Amino acid sequence: MTPATLERPQAAEGSAGFAHPVFDELAFPADANNLYRQTVGCMLHAADVMDLPQYLKLVLAQPKNEIMVHFPVLMDNGKWSLFKGYRVQHNNALGPYKGGLRFHHDVHLDDVKSLAFLMTMKCSLVGVPYGGGKGGIKVNPRDHTTAEMQRIVRRFTSAIAHNIGPDYDIPAPDVGSNAQHMAWIADTYSFLSEVAGQNPSAVITGKPIEYGGSLGREKATGQGVVDTLVEMLPELNLKPAQCTFSTLGYGNVGSWSSRIFQDKGAKMVAAADHTGFIRNDQGIDAHDLATHCETKGSVSSYPKATKCSKEEFYQAKVDVFIPAALEQMIQEPEASMLNCKVVAEGANAPTTPAGERVLQSRGVEILPAILCNAGGVTVSYFEWLQNKTFQSWDLEKVDQTLNKHMVRAAQRVRVARKKYNVDLRTAAYIAALERLAKAYEVRGIFP
Ligand code: NAD
Repeated sequence: MTPATLERPQAAEGSAGFAHPVFDELAFPADANNLYRQTVGCMLHAADVMDLPQYLKLVLAQPKNEIMVHFPVLMDNGKWSLFKGYRVQHNNALGPYKGGLRFHHDVHLDDVKSLAFLMTMKCSLVGVPYGGGKGGIKVNPRDHTTAEMQRIVRRFTSAIAHNIGPDYDIPAPDVGSNAQHMAWIADTYSFLSEVAGQNPSAVITGKPIEYGGSLGREKATGQGVVDTLVEMLPELNLKPAQCTFSTLGYGNVGSWSSRIFQDKGAKMVAAADHTGFIRNDQGIDAHDLATHCETKGSVSSYPKATKCSKEEFYQAKVDVFIPAALEQMIQEPEASMLNCKVVAEGANAPTTPAGERVLQSRGVEILPAILCNAGGVTVSYFEWLQNKTFQSWDLEKVDQTLNKHMVRAAQRVRVARKKYNVDLRTAAYIAALERLAKAYEVRGIFP
């Protein structure tokens, strides 16, 4: 069980929070700590700055579809359990819905809605022809055997099979889900659907290489985080090869960001996951820690660093801090403790508005998630392209094409920042909204 000190902190936004007429019109939850209200609030702020038409603020403030399913699964002990699953389809103005599936015991509808919304923004910003979606199952994969997880995943797939498809809605991995789960989903879908002449495995990305996966997809989000750092750090007067950093969350995104950043010459001095915090000012080998986590399942048991308190972790003096765990983890107290120059958001929505205000007041630059972690969906797009055209790209092509997308997206953010004189998060939303606004302008709204 997760130690109490490492539970996701309860958000503690002031009762007022960000107010907006759209919140009133759409009867948003009044709670300023609500994740959906916070994420949409960032978009509405950017929309106000760029004077986005009012109808677009309304359209983008709610998802098109919210699907919730309940399904029974036989456990190994002969008893039945009932599970809850979600698929939220936020927007498909730019292309099919696209976004991961989270397997976590604490998944709620508003979390999934927030993550689906962020996918719409991210895909638009990074220039891939997708809309935004997200889903999940309320389950802790660590509580189940492989056989139980296979039944849970296949049964969930059958429950949502008519709502997904290679040209309609294409899921992918997220927290708690992995390539094996994606393979079971693709296989189940191939039996339940009729996609004549097509490759049914294109219904999902993040698959194993042996079954239609793409080279470079596993590390793609981390690669994109580092591509963004390499592109953005010089203008903040930092040299990537001389940076120190700390990482919160050492799963897919955290461990790959750390390994690739280290390969560029940077040095990791602190790391954390749901089991605890470690520090070593002489440096922690990011590759060695990843291997340790794969075999032992925890950062805190790593023998070549010292276990430390939450405070000592956050107070570690670093150039770059990479939050790569869950949402809303950097709140006022964490932001006050951080001793860094740049926050590179590997996770989705890791910084609350209150945390962001503290960081901004202390001159810390935030590289926003919709830019920083867009590498995953970009290489998912490459995987989908390969599936649909029956091709396989080499790693060099994947990495180079990803880098082009990341650099172009960073440049668009820079241009928006200059034009509107805003922070990087607002600039990233403006760049994303510009593309969506153009699409709505030419498409119009039916009827
Ligand atoms: P993961 O399951 O591989 O890793 C999650 C990590 O967070 C684990 O190390 C876990 O121990 C840690 N963690 C969980 N609760 C914690 C807590 N309370 N305190 C400290 N650490 C905690 O997940 P992931 O795929 O690496 O995703 C991480 C974040 O990145 C999520 O916000 C996800 O939505 C986002 N993201 C992932 C991808 C991707 O391609 N996987 C792409 C874009 C964004």
